[in-house]
Amino acid sequence: MPKNSVLPLLNDTQSTDSTSDEIYERIYLAILEHRLTPGTKLAEERLASIFKASRARVREALSKLAYEQIVEVFPKRGWFVAKPSVEQARDVFEARRLIEPAVMRRLANSMTEEKRAALKEHLNKEMNARKVEDKRAIIRLSGEFHNLAAALAGNSSFTRSLRELSTLTCLVILLYNAPIVASCRADEHERIVVALNQGDGETAAKIMLEHLDHIEGSLDLDSTEEEADLEEIFLR
Ligand SMILES: [Zn+2]
Repeated sequence: MPKNSVLPLLNDTQSTDSTSDEIYERIYLAILEHRLTPGTKLAEERLASIFKASRARVREALSKLAYEQIVEVFPKRGWFVAKPSVEQARDVFEARRLIEPAVMRRLANSMTEEKRAALKEHLNKEMNARKVEDKRAIIRLSGEFHNLAAALAGNSSFTRSLRELSTLTCLVILLYNAPIVASCRADEHERIVVALNQGDGETAAKIMLEHLDHIEGSLDLDSTEEEADLEEIFLR
């Protein structure tokens, strides 16, 4: 099987038929954990057999992912894990820079014991994943920290947007981050939580912006040519 061609990765023993939501979640998670890489073909028929579901159901899940820009569909060629361009990558960070400070302020102003506990529990999970060097879990949990903060902030539009944006960030990191997967720095999540616990939305927002700068800064967005330089290739 060609390396980039699909999905033995999704094929844990699946005993019952999957709903389209379950298929959606499994693919979403595989992308979040970097098991499915940008540009991977998602063949309907194979997915249908993997998930023991009809092709219509698979299509339903893929359509939802396509709506969120996580999957792309091409006439006659089928479905592929999205491959965000450099421009899209920059757009993702621009959008996150607008939304996430607002999430921080909103969350800092509405902290409760439950929210503190939820954030603490998440940080512990991240710490444990790092301790045992579970790379998949580290990547997934890093992204989920941001989704959790948005969910706790309690604005459903923020939550929905951020879920999309953090998955796209995952794809962007995979595409443009040279050899090392620099996901979120753990200490920055911790510092954000400290500020949130103090009800200090401004500091949390400031650290969040620095944090996003660090993630974007770890990407190699400048040296990647969008299109092959044909003159360079043929005329020199
Ligand atoms: Zn982060």
